[in-house]
Amino acid sequence: MDALREYNIEFVKLTLGDHKFEYHLTDEFFKAFSSSLLSEDIQVNLLFHKSNTMFTLVFELSGKLGLECDRCLSAIDLPVKGKHTVLVKITDYPMENEDDLIYLGSHEYKLNIAQHLYDFVCLSVPIKKTCEDVGRLCDPAMTSNITSIIDIDNGDRLPDRDSDEEEEEEEQL
Ligand SMILES: [Zn+2]
Repeated sequence: MDALREYNIEFVKLTLGDHKFEYHLTDEFFKAFSSSLLSEDIQVNLLFHKSNTMFTLVFELSGKLGLECDRCLSAIDLPVKGKHTVLVKITDYPMENEDDLIYLGSHEYKLNIAQHLYDFVCLSVPIKKTCEDVGRLCDPAMTSNITSIIDIDNGDRLPDRDSDEEEEEEEQL
C-alpha cells in the first residue's frame, strides 16, 4: 500500500505531548481501497497526544463525498462530518485490536492510520442516500424513467404466462 504511505505516523520521532496533523483525502485515497467513493475534498485534522505507553488520537473530519442518489441517480455532494477518538497502547503483550483501541508492540515505531480514516468516512455514509439528504428534490425526469423501466419488466413476464397456458392446453388434448 505505497499510495497510503503518507498516512504513516512515525511516532518514535515525536516528542511527548500534542502534535497536529492535517490530511486531505482525495480520489486517490479511495482508489487505494478499491472504493467507488469520490472525494470532494475531505479534510482531516488529527490531534495526536503522545505519552510514554499510550497515544490518544482525535480525528475531526469535514468535507463532501460525491455520491449518486439511490432513487434518481443524480450526483449529490453529501456532507461528511465526524469526530472519532482512537487509543493506541504500547505494550509487550499486544492483544487483538478493537475498533477504537490499537495495541502495538514495544518494538513498533510507526502507525498507519489510512484504514481508520477510510472506516470513518464509510461510517458517515447513510445506507440509503437520496437528494433529500442534501435538501433537494429528486430529478422527476429520472424517476419517471425508472418507473417506465419497471413497467417494461412487468410486460416481459406476460409471455411466460401465455406459454404456461399453451402447455396446459396441450396436456388436455
Ligand atoms: Zn434523487
